[in-house]
Amino acid sequence: MPSIYVYAPISGTTHSRFRAIPFTCPPDPVVCENSDYINNATGDYCNNCCHPSPYCSAPIDIGASGGAVLDFWGSAAVRSIVCSPTYGNVCADPSVGSPWDDGLAIEMWTGQNATGTKIGTLWYAHVASPYSGTVNTINGGVTYVGYVPSSLCGCRCYQGHHVHMEKCGNSVFNSAVGCTQSVVEDSTWIYRYDY
Ligand SMILES: [Zn+2]
Repeated sequence: MPSIYVYAPISGTTHSRFRAIPFTCPPDPVVCENSDYINNATGDYCNNCCHPSPYCSAPIDIGASGGAVLDFWGSAAVRSIVCSPTYGNVCADPSVGSPWDDGLAIEMWTGQNATGTKIGTLWYAHVASPYSGTVNTINGGVTYVGYVPSSLCGCRCYQGHHVHMEKCGNSVFNSAVGCTQSVVEDSTWIYRYDY
């Protein structure tokens, strides 16, 4: 079964960690907004406070500069991606608003123009000016799919500028990526997909 890797879309520092299996959120030590409604989280904020995964699983936050361009970086076998923005469905508190409450689904395909085999779906959340449509990659990369918000989030847990990622489907996370760790754009792998 072939595999591809998805790499960090931006260089920065992680502010959460993966959990290998769903775990029950413990009593909320820092009054994060999500611990009271997610019972089976797949990530946490490095303090046992649940990190929600509104789309699929294995969420991670990568801190980055506000307004920075978000790329997509996968293995060269990813020859096209389909970007589908969603609006207003990320945060537990809807008053957080756009762009923090917006997400971007990225479908990965082995052929150009969304042909061949569909490898799987990746999500980014908190994406400003998200791209919508199909893009062919260059060596597995697309150098613009949106921006890190230039504003700061009104949510409670991790409030700094960051991008949130999740994986869907037949995939695993990189257990070597932990809390407060530097990841490097197009170099540190975050997820592996088998297809
Ligand atoms: Zn997050």
